[in-house]
Amino acid sequence: MNSTTNGADNTTSDTNGHGSAPVSVTLGRKPPSKGAADGGGVVLAPGAGKTACIRTFGCQMNVHDSDRMRRMIRDAGYAEVQRYEDADVVVLNTCYVRENAVDRVRGHLGELSRLKKEGRVKKFALTGCVGAAKESSQLRNTYGIDLVLGTHNTYELAEFVGLPGMEETYTPDLPGTEGEHQAFVTIMTGCNYQCSYCIVPTVRGRMACRPMESVVEEVRMLVGSGARYVTLLGQTVDAWREKGGAKRFCDLLERVADEAPRVSFTTSHPSNMEDRTLKLIGEKETIVGRLHLPVQSGSDRMLRAMHRGYKSDRYRRKIEVFRDEVPDGTLSTDVIVGHPGETEADHDETLRLLEDCAFDSAYVFKFSPRKGTEAAEMARETSVADDVVQRRFMEVMRAVEQSAFRRNSTKIGSVEEIYVRHGRTGDGRAIGETWGGHAVHVPTDVSPGGYVTARVESAGPHVLHAGEPLS
Ligand code: SF4
Repeated sequence: MNSTTNGADNTTSDTNGHGSAPVSVTLGRKPPSKGAADGGGVVLAPGAGKTACIRTFGCQMNVHDSDRMRRMIRDAGYAEVQRYEDADVVVLNTCYVRENAVDRVRGHLGELSRLKKEGRVKKFALTGCVGAAKESSQLRNTYGIDLVLGTHNTYELAEFVGLPGMEETYTPDLPGTEGEHQAFVTIMTGCNYQCSYCIVPTVRGRMACRPMESVVEEVRMLVGSGARYVTLLGQTVDAWREKGGAKRFCDLLERVADEAPRVSFTTSHPSNMEDRTLKLIGEKETIVGRLHLPVQSGSDRMLRAMHRGYKSDRYRRKIEVFRDEVPDGTLSTDVIVGHPGETEADHDETLRLLEDCAFDSAYVFKFSPRKGTEAAEMARETSVADDVVQRRFMEVMRAVEQSAFRRNSTKIGSVEEIYVRHGRTGDGRAIGETWGGHAVHVPTDVSPGGYVTARVESAGPHVLHAGEPLS
C-alpha cells in the first residue's frame, strides 16, 4: 500500500504489483544526540534507561503494524533508538514481497545475533510477513531469535516487552498512534482473493474485518488527540463489511468522514468498488478525491490468468463513474508488466486501457516471481524475456507520464486549498496535497497538519508547483 502522494517519483518497479513497493523505514523521530560524538543518538526515557529499536520493511500495513508495536514498547517504558547497537530490544518487522526478502532479513538477523552474543542487544524479535512464512522456524534456530510473530498476533509482543498479556485475537484492536496530525487506521487485514502473483493471502491470511464501532471509536479518539488526516487501511479496503450485517465499506467511510476532518483510504480492489462509494467521494467534503484502483493489466486474457476477477471493460466503467462523480479527483493504479504468458497483443491492450483511463499516476511493476505463488510456477514455462519486459515497462511508464502531465497541466492557474503533509523538498518547500489528491509543493512555513491556499503556477508529471500562499 505505500501510497506515494508526497511529490516524489511515484512510478516504481520490481515488486508485487499491489501498490506496496518495498521500503525500509526506521520509525520514530530522530532522537537528540546523547553525546557530541554519537552520530546515532539515543533518547533515554525518564527514569527507565531501557531502549528499543524497531526496523520496518515493506508496505503501509507494515508501517502501521510497527506503529502499534512502537506504542506498546513506549508504554512498557522503553525509549526508542535508531541503531541496533544502542538497543536492549530490537523488533525487525519484515516484508515478504521481494523474492530476496528472506536473504535480506538474514543479513539483519546475522548482525543482531552477533550483537546479542557480544551482550549489546539483549533480545530481538522477528515479526511481519517473514515471521509468518514457513522459513521462520529455521531462521529462529539459526539466529537464536527470541520471539517470532506473524502478522496476526503482533499483540503477543506486549508480554515480550514486559506489559500484561493481551487477549485480542487479531491485530486491529491494538491501539493506534495518538497525537500526530496524520493517523492510519486498519479496518481489515488479509485478503480473500488469490491473485496469481501475490503472496499476501499466504502470509496475511483470509480477510478479517474490524467492527464498525471499533473503527469509529478509534477515529474519534485520534481526532480528539490531534489527528487531522485519517487514512483507512486494508489489503482490499473496499471489501470491508460488517460481520452478519448489511454494512459495507461505503457506510463505514461515511461514518468516518463524519468524524474526521480529512479522510482517505487504500488499497481498493475493482471488484469491490461500489458506485455509491465513488459518489460519496465526490459528495463528502472531508474525503480526499483520490482513488487508487489497481488494474494490473488491460488484457482480459491476462486478468483471467492473474485471477483478478474482473474484465477490463468493467474496470473502465468504474473509472467513468469516478471521473463523473469526482471531476477534480486523481486516479492512480498498479500495472504489472511481463506477467508470464503476456503477449504483445496483451501489452497493447494495457496501453489502450491506460489511454482510456488517463491516470494521474501509476505504480508500474516488472513481474518478479514470488516463491510459493502460481505465477512463479507459470514463469518456468512462459516467462517473458527481460529485454521485452524492459521495453514494455518503458512504454507503460511513458504512457502514464504523458497522461499525468496532461492532467496536471490543466491545474495551472487554479487556486487550491493545500494540506501540508510531512517532509520538505530539497529547496525547503512544503509537500502538500490538494483536496483532489494532487501532490503539490508550496513555499510555506506552515507545519504539517495545517492548510494554505495558493495558486498552481506550474506542473510536472508527478507534482504541482504552487506560488506564495494567498492566505
Ligand atoms: S487482491 Fe489480494 S491476492 Fe490480489 S494482489 Fe491484492 S492482496 Fe494480493
